[in-house]
Amino acid sequence: MPQTGVALRGPSVTFRGDPFGSTPTEALHYEPDALVLLRAGRIDAFGSAAALLPGLPADTTIRHYPRGLLVPGFVDCHVHYAQLEMVGSAGRPLLEWLEQFTFPAELAFGDERHAERVAAQFLNELQRNGTTTAAVFATVHPQSVDALFRVAEPTGLRIVAGKCLMDRHAPDGLRDSVQQGYDDSAALITRWHGRGRLGYAITPRFVASSSDAQLEAAGALWRAHPGTLLQSHLSENTAEVEWIRALYPQSRDYVDVFDRFGLLGRGAIHAHGIHLSERERSRLAQTGTALAHCPTSNLFLGSGLFDLQAAVRRDRPIPVGLATDVGAGTTLSMLATMGAAMHVAQLRGTPLAPAQALWLGTAGAARALTLEHRVGNLEVGLDADVVVLDPNATPFIAARTARVRDVHELLGVLMTLGDDRCIRETWADGRSVWIRPS
Ligand SMILES: [Zn+2]
Repeated sequence: MPQTGVALRGPSVTFRGDPFGSTPTEALHYEPDALVLLRAGRIDAFGSAAALLPGLPADTTIRHYPRGLLVPGFVDCHVHYAQLEMVGSAGRPLLEWLEQFTFPAELAFGDERHAERVAAQFLNELQRNGTTTAAVFATVHPQSVDALFRVAEPTGLRIVAGKCLMDRHAPDGLRDSVQQGYDDSAALITRWHGRGRLGYAITPRFVASSSDAQLEAAGALWRAHPGTLLQSHLSENTAEVEWIRALYPQSRDYVDVFDRFGLLGRGAIHAHGIHLSERERSRLAQTGTALAHCPTSNLFLGSGLFDLQAAVRRDRPIPVGLATDVGAGTTLSMLATMGAAMHVAQLRGTPLAPAQALWLGTAGAARALTLEHRVGNLEVGLDADVVVLDPNATPFIAARTARVRDVHELLGVLMTLGDDRCIRETWADGRSVWIRPS
């Protein structure tokens, strides 16, 4: 029996181009009364309500949000679900923060029940925040990935995740071995990759936490499983960059370490990339390697200010997506993270337009994850992931948004004042997966 469709009606914004490649006002399209027809998990039609309403099948259910704003489901390119319970562990730079707070929290994920409980909370938070796709780090324990995927499968969310590969410079209980890491990852790929909306990312935590042999194995694993992603961390903090230099004296720089082990290329996404040289950026661009920009995390740990303009330079653009990086990140709200990206850009003296910030958390992030043919925009054929934003979520937000001159200003205000309170409803895979209680 063919599934009946649901049509979401209301003002909408979509991308008709890359707002870093053209002007933000040209790239973002505002439709004051749009219709998005969802059928069988896909966007079946999209356009003005006036044009589409007469041709809608009679059995279509119409959900009307005249005071909302329909936007593509948000895409969080880099987040650690196992760090949910340690968000806000403050005051230390990266390497001490890992030792003091992160590793103890991750140890608990050897217990699959604990992992399932936190996974459920994490996925619920994604839905509450309008995030319909996420690239997620689990822990070194394969059961932490099983737990996440098992809980994620019925949620309708698109989740890419992987088990951390880490065979050195980590405490007892958080290290694997080259062979175990390879075998566990391969088994998880067989079990979960491509099942519904789930996908696998081979996940060497960072190059300090894996031996040469493990990095070799990660590259081999990636080549052996086309279609999987590869995720890691790169050039986050100056002390870490010095450490990598000392660990790999034969490499030209941090990016070269990844290069030597075959860990660059389309489908690889590395978080941060703050302290990069031009040679490193050129090499990332040349290989199609993506960066995850994690502004709240970078501010929280004092890691540095990401140079977005240098990354997206038109003559050699690096794919960049936005990410929360919880638990170093301070929020799972992509709206708030877009606001933080604008703050970081201001501190670098290169302001970011709201349309560009939205792109980084939707279509740009989808491209960074090589999922642009599936998610990131309101476009016929893409997955039916839609967020209904509420510009009247609180009296203050309503008073402020009543005064905006156009949709660009509206988005900027929502990114500045908004968070999960502004998510009226989240649609994922063609289903309503979150409705904010009134
Ligand atoms: Zn991270």
